[in-house]
Amino acid sequence: MSKPDARIDVVQGTANTWLVGNDEEVIVIDPGDDAGVVLGAVGDREVLAVICTHGHAGHAAAALEVAEHDEAPVALHPADRQAWRELHDEDPDIRMEDGGRFDVAGITMEVLHAPGHSRGSVLLYCEELEAAFTGDVVGENGPVPTRDGFPNWGRQLDAIGAQVLTLPSQTRLLPGHGGELTVAEAEKRFDSWVAAGQDQTVSGVQDDAE
Ligand SMILES: [Zn+2]
Repeated sequence: MSKPDARIDVVQGTANTWLVGNDEEVIVIDPGDDAGVVLGAVGDREVLAVICTHGHAGHAAAALEVAEHDEAPVALHPADRQAWRELHDEDPDIRMEDGGRFDVAGITMEVLHAPGHSRGSVLLYCEELEAAFTGDVVGENGPVPTRDGFPNWGRQLDAIGAQVLTLPSQTRLLPGHGGELTVAEAEKRFDSWVAAGQDQTVSGVQDDAE
């Protein structure tokens, strides 16, 4: 069996944009708001899909423009459709659900619904790459707030417990803002995030709640 040659690249803009693929094809996760920069990083590779971890502007504003390049489908969880419609006239092509799958460059990414930061927030987990793209569900400083704080702190913590801490401990967590951490590190820090509470959790990063 040949080893998949998929790799992960990052483009740092309003959010971390993650490119997963090889020299021929790529999936774009959270295109941010600058399509030109993302397409520059894509180069001459084919975009198979554009996946938005959630519908907030800093993550999803350039989705249609990036997808248009190769007439690729855009994927969003339907629970974030309202936020999406504040950015775009055209609806996303793929309604992501928990358990959905995306294939690229010999690897598979699984959709894990993790509501809290927004109702339609998801993670993309790739077992082969030992990585999960966490959007604003969790970052290195804990659950990521929106500009207006935490829309649903308890639900976001529950989602981290159910969908993140249950992944293999060496899994890299690649968030929508800031630096990465592992599941083992998140597990160690989790109690302090809970103890700090939503008013005390100063994460240093926050996301636009549009
Ligand atoms: Zn957000």
